[in-house]
Amino acid sequence: MADKADFDSKAVAARLREAVNQQPGLIDLLAATEFFGELLPLLRDADLSAGTLSITGDIAAGKMRAGLPLLADIELEIDLGAVQKLMISLAAALETFKANACGGPNAAAARSIRLAVEDGRLDTDLLITGTMAGDTSHIRSMAADLGLDADLLVALARNALKPALRDWCRQLGPLTEKCDWHKGYCFVCGAAPVLGELREDHQAKYLRCGQCGAEWSAQRLKCTLCGNADHKTFGYLYAEDEPARILAEVCDDCGGYLKVINAYQPTPAEMLPVEDLATLHIDHIAKERGYAREAKNVP
Ligand SMILES: [Zn+2]
Ligand SMILES: [Zn+2]
Repeated sequence: MADKADFDSKAVAARLREAVNQQPGLIDLLAATEFFGELLPLLRDADLSAGTLSITGDIAAGKMRAGLPLLADIELEIDLGAVQKLMISLAAALETFKANACGGPNAAAARSIRLAVEDGRLDTDLLITGTMAGDTSHIRSMAADLGLDADLLVALARNALKPALRDWCRQLGPLTEKCDWHKGYCFVCGAAPVLGELREDHQAKYLRCGQCGAEWSAQRLKCTLCGNADHKTFGYLYAEDEPARILAEVCDDCGGYLKVINAYQPTPAEMLPVEDLATLHIDHIAKERGYAREAKNVP
């Protein structure tokens, strides 16, 4: 088993407190401290028996040159029963929290999903393999058939796979050190970046995968979602009172945005969902102006 970064509950509490101090409107975020206190140790401690990947440096380099995420089209070993158990634990943790003001799911929706998994109404093998393959359309029709919250079901399945994805990301790290990758999706698992980080005195931009924790460098002054680099249609939005720390890159060509934070050190993979929540006000600013997290239109 690869080493796992330790979950630091003090770091979570401190980051959310800092966010609320800067943006008092985010006061509801403090309730999430307890939520992460339950959720993050579950993800840290889960052992999904993620198999050892047999992929050579040459194959990895070839896939990356072709723009293919490394986990695409390879046999992935995982303990489906352990993933199912983790999904039940995650749903149970969500049930203990009231419908929260951070736009999160409500307890009743989490309970319905947990019961459907526990009594076997939900085909979790299909759910997990579909999620691993990035196919959510089938999952959404399963959710509709069973009267479950589709977004929450997808989110739970994705979260339940995180420990394995992080394990594979750690395994692939040494193979990819010399490889170039400048796409707008993760070179390990293919997910969209959760945020960008500006490092080294703001000269270098890195994208971070919220699923597997991978990081890769990206060009500044260019839309991550569609590649637009025209300054007339690609720009930035700032929160008025903290322009130096965080911004949203916004693109009028594709209608998408990406949050970018100043981070002298890479955010630990476990802290990425916390950072995502702590910067919620920038999502509000970007969404108010009509931008979305995913490209809305193909230019
Ligand atoms: Zn990834
Ligand atoms: Zn764009």
